[in-house]
Amino acid sequence: MPSSDLLPDTARLEKVASGASWAEGPTWIPGWRAVRFSDVSGNRILEYSERTGELSVYATEVEYTNGRALAPDGSVVQCSQGRRRMERDRDGAVEPLADQWHGRRFNSPNDVVVTSDGTIWFSDPSYGILKDGEGHPGELEYGDHYVFRLDPATGEVEPAVLDVRMPNGLAFSPDETILYVSDTSMELPERTPAGYPSGGHGIRAYDVAGGRWVKNGRLLLEIQDGLADGFRVDTDGNLWTSAGSAVQVFTPDGALLLTIPVPETVGNLCFGGADGQSLYITASSSLYRIRTNARDARSSFLPWS
Ligand code: MG
Repeated sequence: MPSSDLLPDTARLEKVASGASWAEGPTWIPGWRAVRFSDVSGNRILEYSERTGELSVYATEVEYTNGRALAPDGSVVQCSQGRRRMERDRDGAVEPLADQWHGRRFNSPNDVVVTSDGTIWFSDPSYGILKDGEGHPGELEYGDHYVFRLDPATGEVEPAVLDVRMPNGLAFSPDETILYVSDTSMELPERTPAGYPSGGHGIRAYDVAGGRWVKNGRLLLEIQDGLADGFRVDTDGNLWTSAGSAVQVFTPDGALLLTIPVPETVGNLCFGGADGQSLYITASSSLYRIRTNARDARSSFLPWS
């Protein structure tokens, strides 16, 4: 789709909710017609209802959840930085999925995507164990920052991406043959494991083999002013990413198509709305929305409405 077709002529960015300490991890909850997101440092989960236009508190004392993703079965898989684990929420009942790899605890899972077969891929940077307020201070028990793959049927956890200094957002191409992972290591360089290049502020791409292995890692794009924290891929394969105080849209080849300025620093975003074409943006203390002509690539296999 040409860049001029990404947004309708009438599209305007609007602030729909505010009052979070640090808003992150938005996901559209179809049955409730709501956007659920984390107030990470507020240690609670909020929901914005598209029906009523109201913001409500979904849960408190949640141990610093961050990213979340709707699974094909309608449950919500989310990252808990405080519990250093992945967990699943079914209508408010939360069950643990995994918190360690070979006896060593995860750092602080940050963002997650669930593929069409239910497999869970999540990033494990260390932001939640650096200090109080986004988790609890702790050690890098396995000594690095990986993207892991979790098979919820067996509980098996395996490292999938090992060469991103500070993996953060992640998403797949529409056919799930390419995995994209953002690197936010430009922030907090002192936490970088030895031997890694410094200053990551872009998105890397990997070919996925057998739904299991990744190879041919390459730098797809770099954000010129800020970081790519969370992002989504649309049905045309374009990447809609946080980019400092903006959302930027890139082609699958990494060419910049569009910049949408946002008044606050953008952490993450998701597509929502009954038709899946509203883009919801978590930015610092607020939730923004803008209408688009695009849809999330994952909407083809998710229970969207
Ligand atoms: Mg993140």
